Amino acid sequence: MLACLDLEGVLLPEIWVKFAEKTGIEELKITTREIPDYDQLMQMRLKILREHNLTIDDIQNVIATLSPLEGAYDFLNWLKSEFQVIILSDTYYEFIGPLMRQLDYPTVFCHSLVIDNNGLITDYKLRQSDQKTKAVKSLQSLNFKVISAGDSYNDTGMLQQADAGILFCPPDKVIKDFPQFPVARDYSEFKNLLSSTKLKLLG
Ligand SMILES: [Mg+2]
Repeated sequence: MLACLDLEGVLLPEIWVKFAEKTGIEELKITTREIPDYDQLMQMRLKILREHNLTIDDIQNVIATLSPLEGAYDFLNWLKSEFQVIILSDTYYEFIGPLMRQLDYPTVFCHSLVIDNNGLITDYKLRQSDQKTKAVKSLQSLNFKVISAGDSYNDTGMLQQADAGILFCPPDKVIKDFPQFPVARDYSEFKNLLSSTKLKLLG
């Protein structure tokens, strides 16, 4: 049985928001809530990074000062003792490197950035659209049972595709729109839900 876990909002803080706070670049706090078109939002973010002349090294240095959420490390270790764990995230490998070290390098499937010779980010490359849902579907085709968990709208596809889905600390709006999924509000509740769900699926 596999556990497919979202990253930001579950094990890590929201990287763009934290990065905006650390650098004081207010416009980088804008999220898909304000600009629902992801490509438009990313192009705006990349333009802001270029305007501030921020290279990938500068960005990684800021990200290296961030930490996983409190309790995330121990939670992830527990999860690895109970399941094979794959993290499915819509972030970028070039961003999470310094943070993955703090989580003992779990397996992560995410997207990548296009970086020029001067270290400036010129573009981004999605592995594929809706990769979380497609990854779960592919793993099921290898005869794995999959439990998926995440905190937001970009997780609901993989939660629906999985054999069981769990929401972790989601915004109220997500709970209202997806009342079929059980909700965990801290790591202790999360562990209990994961354990009972595992028993049910094995049953
Ligand atoms: Mg998330």
